Amino acid sequence: MFTVGIIGRPNVGKSTLFNRLAGKRIAIVDDMPGVTRDRLEYIAEWEGKKFKIVDTCGYDLREELLKKEMIKQFYASLDEADFFVLLVDAKEGLHPLDEMVCNILREREKKFIVVANKVDNEKLQSFVADFYQLGVEEIIPISATHGKNVDILLDKIIENYVEDEEVTD
Ligand code: GDP
Repeated sequence: MFTVGIIGRPNVGKSTLFNRLAGKRIAIVDDMPGVTRDRLEYIAEWEGKKFKIVDTCGYDLREELLKKEMIKQFYASLDEADFFVLLVDAKEGLHPLDEMVCNILREREKKFIVVANKVDNEKLQSFVADFYQLGVEEIIPISATHGKNVDILLDKIIENYVEDEEVTD
């Protein structure tokens, strides 16, 4: 099944977005970075297309204690998904780790979109432009908490949707 991975630094709002897409509170949302440890999956349907959404663990390569395990999970998650939502934090601004992950996705020829979360109001919209430094054509501003632009994000996922290949004998 077409699989969409949500990746991003700890605390950017991956779990909140996952819950928003899933329509119920099934991922743990916390103020402490790095709360989403285990991978969660959900089958979503939009525009009549079914796809799997995977909430990966966050990556925080500075966090020594969890470093090894997180890097392992991060790389494992790269092989799992067909398409990635790279979630960045509009309140925090561009972070070197965002650039690093962008580069890893490009090196591995993974398709992805950059989605700026926490754009709760017009004022924060101005910070979104910063993320164009990542060299992408488009940034989708969303607010996972308020559900703002989540439909635009889902449309974008469907634009990149690839049907499963038929299994023939
Ligand atoms: P994760 O570590 O990336 O999974 O992040 P979480 O989903 O646990 O969210 C981290 C924090 O950011 C929590 O306090 C959320 O309430 C907050 N958060 C998530 N989405 C938004 C948003 O759209 N706007 C604002 N203002 N806060 C958000």
